[in-house]
Amino acid sequence: MTTVTRFAPSPTGMLHVGGARTALYSWLHARQRGGRFVLRIEDTDRLRSTPEAINAIHEAMQWLGLDYTPPVVYQSQRETRHREAIDQLITQGDAYYCYASTADVEAMRERARARGDKPRYDGTWRPRPGKTLPTPPSGVSPVVRFANPTTGSVRFEDIIRGTVAIDNSELDDLVIARADGTPTYNLCVVVDDLDAGITDVVRGDDHVNNTPRQINIGRALVGSEIDLPHYAHVPMILGADGRRLSKRHGAVDVMQFRRDGILPGALLNYLARLGWSYGDQEIFSLNEMVDKFALNEVHSKAAVFDPDKLAWVNQEHIKAAEPAELIDELAWHLAELGVHDVSDARLEEIAAVQQQRCKTVRGMATDSLYLFYAVDEYDSKGVKKHVKPGSASVLRDLRDRLAALQSWRADDLGATVKTLADDHEIGLGKVAQPLRIALTGRPVSPPIDDTLALLGRETSLVRLDKAITDFGEIADNTETSV
Ligand code: GLU
Repeated sequence: MTTVTRFAPSPTGMLHVGGARTALYSWLHARQRGGRFVLRIEDTDRLRSTPEAINAIHEAMQWLGLDYTPPVVYQSQRETRHREAIDQLITQGDAYYCYASTADVEAMRERARARGDKPRYDGTWRPRPGKTLPTPPSGVSPVVRFANPTTGSVRFEDIIRGTVAIDNSELDDLVIARADGTPTYNLCVVVDDLDAGITDVVRGDDHVNNTPRQINIGRALVGSEIDLPHYAHVPMILGADGRRLSKRHGAVDVMQFRRDGILPGALLNYLARLGWSYGDQEIFSLNEMVDKFALNEVHSKAAVFDPDKLAWVNQEHIKAAEPAELIDELAWHLAELGVHDVSDARLEEIAAVQQQRCKTVRGMATDSLYLFYAVDEYDSKGVKKHVKPGSASVLRDLRDRLAALQSWRADDLGATVKTLADDHEIGLGKVAQPLRIALTGRPVSPPIDDTLALLGRETSLVRLDKAITDFGEIADNTETSV
């Protein structure tokens, strides 16, 4: 049987990193079995669901590369089908109209509490053979309740948690349609999972208490012959303080990680390892995760989010990547910084130089801005520390030697800088640092030979010319002010 999994987010905000991990586990489980992974947007809560939140889900899933088999299901468009299922349950005698008001139900719960029982609906409107139901009050629109079995128990093998069993006597008769006729979450989920042929429901463990109820509803809908889905409840992600990970712990929006310069593959790697392990291996490509991940090995205990570890995983991915694998993200970050239309070949050159020294793709982009913007200002601290009275004349000599080079390759450029330092009997830093400031405006950049090579002959010489004048003036001013 083909494995079919799904991700069923409610579009009420950004895509939370916890949701992304659930989606990843569900995607991996389908992918490694050659199955299908579908996206269902649970947008039945009209007040809380927004088009922006729906876009945010698509955007985040696309960035992560968690592709789904079309079509995307919008739960709100399936209301007719949901109502049909409710009618079926009523007709079968598995659901019934209940006219109890909210106050009535509260009073029933109160009475149960007073008796020392679990607070619950008392079954007043539930039909039973030989029972005479109360007369429906006029002007009241009833809700529909599912007639949960009253005896026996529900038992399922959770792929992550193992056996879960609960007595039916513990379960209330759930409302499956509100007074205005709209179906509720627990009904919609069951109908949608059954209709889509979902074989494995992978979802957050905040839903584990719903599962026995959903299994009962599912059984009532399809009988005992048809298989219901298997369930895997993924434990939540906690912050360092042991509380559920939320904004107050830092970034939780998947797209915020992008803005921070995390690679999608690194975030997926980190999320896969957060709650699952494979020996002591930490770094996984997506293909390796598909090969090695096992849903039944996901830890049943909640995991603690560690931003430092994510940063480390990200840097490892950046270092190990082929430059071509970095260019989409690099281009995105450059565009965020106002640099557009950089060719793929140029992006690859930049990535190849920056990937060994930058911790994030954002850093790769900011540290490459010198290639795209003229140096309007020099970093004042850098100038103070590195530009000395003799710097301008050293750079003048260097400029002439560089201009005479036949090629503009990093090794020749590096050798020229080195020879010049030797000839002037000064340390390499006394040449490289003023040169770096001249070329980039800052005292920090890739190795000086790469900095020159990336910038190219023409721009390097123009910037050197300007700096020779500027640094001459700086040095003069320094001398007069002494
Ligand atoms: N829409 C639900 C949520 O966002 C998920 C329901 C499910 O996965 O069954 O929490």
